[in-house]
Amino acid sequence: MIILNYINGEWIEPKITKYMAVLNPANGEVIARTPLSLAADVDAAAKAAAEAFPAWRRTPAQDRVQYLFKLKFLLEDNLDEISRTIVNECGKTYEEAKAEMRRAIENVEVACGIPMLSKGEISEDIAPGIDEILLRQPVGVCATIAPFNFPGMIPFWYLPYALATGNTYIMKPSEKVPMTMQVLFRIIERLGLPKGVINMVNGSKEAVDAILDHPVIRAITFVGSTSVARYIYRRASENGKRVQAQGGAKNPAIVLPDADMDMAIKIIADSAFGCAGQRCLAVSWAVTVGEARNYFCEGICDAAATRTVGYGLESDTKMGPVINKASVQRIEHLIGLGVSEGASIPVDGRGTVIKGYENGSFVRPTILMDIKPGGDIWKTEIFGPVLGVMHVNTIDDAIVLTNSGVYGNQASLFTSSGSAARKFRYEVDAGNIGINIGVAAPMAFFPFSGWKESFFGDLHGQGMDAVDFFTQKKVVVERWPKQWSRKF
Ligand code: NAD
Repeated sequence: MIILNYINGEWIEPKITKYMAVLNPANGEVIARTPLSLAADVDAAAKAAAEAFPAWRRTPAQDRVQYLFKLKFLLEDNLDEISRTIVNECGKTYEEAKAEMRRAIENVEVACGIPMLSKGEISEDIAPGIDEILLRQPVGVCATIAPFNFPGMIPFWYLPYALATGNTYIMKPSEKVPMTMQVLFRIIERLGLPKGVINMVNGSKEAVDAILDHPVIRAITFVGSTSVARYIYRRASENGKRVQAQGGAKNPAIVLPDADMDMAIKIIADSAFGCAGQRCLAVSWAVTVGEARNYFCEGICDAAATRTVGYGLESDTKMGPVINKASVQRIEHLIGLGVSEGASIPVDGRGTVIKGYENGSFVRPTILMDIKPGGDIWKTEIFGPVLGVMHVNTIDDAIVLTNSGVYGNQASLFTSSGSAARKFRYEVDAGNIGINIGVAAPMAFFPFSGWKESFFGDLHGQGMDAVDFFTQKKVVVERWPKQWSRKF
């Protein structure tokens, strides 16, 4: 596939000589080349978006959302093609890719409510003849910098809200997975939006830095690793921009002895190994409390060892490859680190070769048993199908352990006790809590709410947080003396 930028309603080849090869992670075949755009390309997109802004912000919100109604149906009609593209560039299974797009569509549906969600407020007669009015106005030109692991869904935590609230917009997809956004922009093009309202620039660091520094771009959303999130947050805010940056994760699941153990094993396995563990809400370490230990450990090892791994478009595949060979190397290195720190490895996914896909980037599910609190393998985000397991005596120990991690994206508890569940959700420092849930991904009408090193900023993506992020509030105080009205 030829990857192009989309600027001012035109498909444009950036004037560059540097490209990055995009490989199907299941078989290693080159399927596209991402152009690594320069600051000049970002500048062209920012100018187009700035020119489109005055007319777009004056377009009534109820007219703006008509484009989103149309988008919802076009996305549904093209779900198969979009999902296959996600499988081929990102490595998921077909069902995972479809589920990802369902959440994207749900965000479009929620953003269709923006005429109501972004309406203002008025208080009459705060003093005699004086009214106070709260208006919500768009921020201006906004941009999103996306990660590789949800090429279809994550951009939609922002895109529909930014447009419906009257902003103009620039999307920068991950250079590792540029194809899904090409397919999505071919669909968006069919909406007939005014030129410049939505733009796309492909590339990596140089394009990102140009976005962070561009004076016309007023607000930036980012999703990716914590080190880059911190950098984005710092540089964009130093430049006076509104910014939110979601970072990495290391999510625990606590298993109490009173849990439905078979259910807990299945759900934790699906969370840890689904999307090949490349999900910021994947459970990456499980903590068994007291007597939960033996049954859980046996069951989770069995679930890991029997998961069918392969190409995501084959119907029996339950887990696809990781994104690339570099990722395989990093994951295998971290597994080795866990072993050197004293963990045992009852299920070892290193050195995986799948028949017929010998050039693919596969790591089978792996269990690291008895990882040590405070060790590198306990702290480091692996972003692969690796589950660490540890044991404590009480739920209080488990909560202390959970809260001592630097990340706060998600924490899960498996129990049949209401009071344990209440204690957990009350005391745990994480933005997304699962009670008997392994991937506590909020519906589109709730914020996607990471804490601690998993998030830099205030307002999150999705729902009302996104409406707040993409609008700025203006308060007007008006005096209309009584004697003036007598003239009419
Ligand atoms: P990444 O940080 O490598 O890249 C994300 C984006 O940042 C890409 O668009 C990339 O072009 C850009 N980028 C990368 N390095 C940069 C640099 N040095 N300077 C400027 N820009 C740079 O992340 P990834 O590997 O694409 O995605 C995986 C990470 O994203 C994991 O850490 C995962 O936990 C995280 N993630 C978090 C959430 C969340 O909601 N918290 C959701 C999905 C993924």
